[in-house]
Amino acid sequence: MPPNVIAIDGPSGSGKSSVSKGVAQILGYDYLDTGAMYRAVTWWALDQGLAEVDVPARLEQCVIVSRTDPTDPQISVNGVDVSEAIRTPEVTAAVSRYSAVPEVRAALVAQQRQVAEHTSQGLVAEGRDLGTVVFPDALLKVYLTADVEARARRRAAENAERGHDADVSTTHQSLAERDRADSQRAVSPLQIADDAVEVDATYMTLAEVIDHVAALVKERL
Ligand code: C5P
Repeated sequence: MPPNVIAIDGPSGSGKSSVSKGVAQILGYDYLDTGAMYRAVTWWALDQGLAEVDVPARLEQCVIVSRTDPTDPQISVNGVDVSEAIRTPEVTAAVSRYSAVPEVRAALVAQQRQVAEHTSQGLVAEGRDLGTVVFPDALLKVYLTADVEARARRRAAENAERGHDADVSTTHQSLAERDRADSQRAVSPLQIADDAVEVDATYMTLAEVIDHVAALVKERL
């Protein structure tokens, strides 16, 4: 039986990562960024020159390890730290295609459940299908959203910090496209779980969202 699992889902740029890390730190829980895992597979496939159809047969050669410390999460592929490399525009543009491959999802979902099994205090996991598919019995499910303008501004600022394309309207377009692809795919589309608490962060500060979610967790403990 996995310990306390907090599932945080929502569209791109809604602030899931910052909120999830903050909540994990307050509660002393581990943290898992499942989007980083899909990005890591995508980085590896692009590096190997593999199209989506070629990935299933080679998937065993892609060994992903996620560090679950919320103050220093890192992700590696076959021993190489790819924490920065998975955030490039090339990986971002391709990730929705590779994350729609059923074999990729099956492998990563199994790995995500194993992380939860091995955690001691609890786990805050963020992504698109954590409340609906990966952890249907989560202690708390949050669907975090914000209007697309606010999300595009945040992502453009993050991209600028990383030295990538920082144009808000290009970011807006790429977010909207990714939302559409992630919501419409056949396997595990982005959906709000029936029992999720919806949090709209458009007019909230990061600290307010973190405190609100941490309070929701404490109510259920
Ligand atoms: O959260 P992030 O934007 O880094 O996620 C990158 C991509 O990974 C998403 O656009 C989506 O295609 C995929 N993803 C997914 N299921 C998850 C987490 C992310 O399909 N649980």
